[in-house]
Amino acid sequence: MSIDASPAEAVADARTPDASVAPPRDDVGALVARLRSTFEAGRTKPVAWRIRQLKALKALLLENTPEIEAALITDLAKNPAEAQLTEIGFVLAEIEHTLANLTRWLRPKRVATPLLIAPSSAKTVLEPLGVVLVIAPWNYPVQLLLVPIIGALAAGNALVAKPSELAPATSAVFAKLFARYFDQRAVAIVEGGVPETTELLKQRFDHIFYTGNGRVGRIVMHAAAENLTPVTLELGGKSPVYVDDTVDLRAVAHRVAWGKFMNAGQTCVAPDYLLASPAVAAALEPLLTEVIAEFYGPDPATSDSFGRIVNDAQFERLTGLLAGETVVAGGESDARTRYLAPTVLHDVDRTSAVMAQEIFGPILPIVTVDSLNDAISYINAGDKPLALYVFTESKAVRRRFITGTSSGAIAFGVPAAHLLVQGLPFGGVGASGMGAYHGERSVQVFSHEKAVLSKILKPDTFNLVYPPFTQKKDAFIRGFLRKLT
Ligand code: NAD
Repeated sequence: MSIDASPAEAVADARTPDASVAPPRDDVGALVARLRSTFEAGRTKPVAWRIRQLKALKALLLENTPEIEAALITDLAKNPAEAQLTEIGFVLAEIEHTLANLTRWLRPKRVATPLLIAPSSAKTVLEPLGVVLVIAPWNYPVQLLLVPIIGALAAGNALVAKPSELAPATSAVFAKLFARYFDQRAVAIVEGGVPETTELLKQRFDHIFYTGNGRVGRIVMHAAAENLTPVTLELGGKSPVYVDDTVDLRAVAHRVAWGKFMNAGQTCVAPDYLLASPAVAAALEPLLTEVIAEFYGPDPATSDSFGRIVNDAQFERLTGLLAGETVVAGGESDARTRYLAPTVLHDVDRTSAVMAQEIFGPILPIVTVDSLNDAISYINAGDKPLALYVFTESKAVRRRFITGTSSGAIAFGVPAAHLLVQGLPFGGVGASGMGAYHGERSVQVFSHEKAVLSKILKPDTFNLVYPPFTQKKDAFIRGFLRKLT
């Protein structure tokens, strides 16, 4: 085993009544109360405890990789190599990064104080929030449950994790493993769907971290408002791609097909649709067809590198979006196996159904634009995207996109890879979400940044601001404040 410490310590911590098994619904209140008393007793605050939990999570992943990979195959037909890149290995990298930097991130940060209150010193310290709730979706059921949990643990919180009921095999594996690896007094998992989540949302948490669609995002925010609980909402939307005529279109076809068809298109930062001039679109379409065959063979249904649609409802929604469209590549489907081929649509009308909603499946509509301005206006007319991808060699065009559009992230030359940069915030803006995480930001999300000011009592330079306010003091205060502004 290549980890620094066995999970034994964490397991030893965990020998308390079983808080990690999903409680009966009317017990959720008792569970949260139990977690709160653990937090209030100070158990989760020591950095050593946090590090033990992170190492336990690392062990959980390393020691159970085959079982987790199998669950991902059951839920999404996710290839184990892709699962390493986007789920298990992704989480391990985040743990390593956090373990390597946590002590530094937690150091108090000095802040300069104004002369008016000299001599004094000021700093900020990070304190854990308390008991937090992490609600995850089904599409990356490992990454999107565990990466927020890394931040919550590293920040010293107790937590409830709610995996998605729509990835039941992965949810069940974690329900079993959380109980074995984590400190059960502080870390609980509640499986289930809408009724269980509704019950959880009635409880008072100190932060709710929700990843999923905007409709439920509104439900979460509404519930959180009852207790003035802060929320992070990691939502979705239509992430556009713009391609101009300055770039190598074969390379673009590889990048776009990779980002789009990974996880069968069920990726929040997947390219949703592609904007290009009619000439670029015409050149790109056969290249996309070739790349799809290169990636998945002549019949992607037989490729174990291509996933499946999560459930029948999603499958029906997606196949419905193809009605009336011109298919350039793919289009085939099999309801029995929920297979929908990697599909490219030609010259899609801007008012068609496929352009009216987040696709969240392996369908790439190509929409033609008259100009760069047309592309930018079209993007700006919609909700602010989670990500925007631009393929151009022109610095001026890049600048136009950076300053002339708003999105959670913008990436040039590659889709989805910005998630791999731990120093970049990952989050949306407007309809694509609020708040961001990854790396140090994950610790900040689950912490309160407390202001700390210290001023010695003597000499008492403050007597210059005490009443009574003489003319001299008035002049002094005005003069001082003017200098400060
Ligand atoms: P989902 O159906 O699994 O729902 C997410 C969570 O919300 C689940 O845990 C579910 O139990 C809970 N939930 C569902 N209905 C609820 C209700 N009525 N009340 C309370 N809780 C409820 O996942 P989804 O929403 O279909 O996920 C897909 C969406 O998530 C897409 O829009 C996608 O873009 C977005 N997404 C965003 C990110 C991101 O990081 N920004 C990542 C992945 C997915």
